[in-house]
Amino acid sequence: MFLSEHTASCRLLIRGGDLSKSMSRYLIDEIEQRGRIEVMTYSEIVELNGNGAPETALVADTRTGERRPLPAKAVFIFIGASPHTDWLRGQVAMDEHCFVLTGRDVGEEDLSEWGEERPYFLETSMPGIFAVGDVHSGSVKRCASAVGEGSMAVRLAYQRLEAR
Ligand SMILES: Cc1cc2nc3c(=O)[nH]c(=O)nc-3n(C[C@H](O)[C@H](O)[C@H](O)COP(=O)(O)OP(=O)(O)OC[C@H]3O[C@@H](n4cnc5c(N)ncnc54)[C@H](O)[C@@H]3O)c2cc1C
Repeated sequence: MFLSEHTASCRLLIRGGDLSKSMSRYLIDEIEQRGRIEVMTYSEIVELNGNGAPETALVADTRTGERRPLPAKAVFIFIGASPHTDWLRGQVAMDEHCFVLTGRDVGEEDLSEWGEERPYFLETSMPGIFAVGDVHSGSVKRCASAVGEGSMAVRLAYQRLEAR
């Protein structure tokens, strides 16, 4: 919405077929009502070309793989929200999207070895292992909160050591 106010044209490319899977209805309504944003579904940028700055983007149809160039003087890439936690699978409890469960979110079924103790805030199902920032389930997904949680985890780690 912000970018569309400062550009002659604005395209929103999504890999899926429908904005409603991951966007609030009120935002979709605003995009549709404003009419300055062209939503391109089943589209993925596979290449950027230009001389020192973007000029064209090669866009692939995610269903057919067909590619076509589009003029693009500026690109705002909004990806990077998937957790890379495969290597932790089976070690700490996670939610259905592979974000690490911490604190009260850790289910009783994952606490069988804890005895009377329970995980501190930001502590995973493995005692003494903390998860902060985007990777933990239910995180705020902001830089400031990730940094803040990091500093909290230091204190909580000491608390865990003292408790043991
Ligand atoms: C497109 C986009 C725009 C955003 N805009 C904003 C904004 O305007 N304002 C705002 O506050 N927040 C914004 N965010 C959210 C913000 O970037 C995150 O909340 C923040 O970066 C989270 O910090 P983090 O340290 O938890 O995770 P990250 O910043 O993701 O850092 C995790 C690091 O761990 C590394 N890593 C992963 N696996 C391993 C491994 N096995 N071994 C070693 N290292 C590993 C990764 O490479 C990465 O460097 C945006 C996010 C995205 C994706």
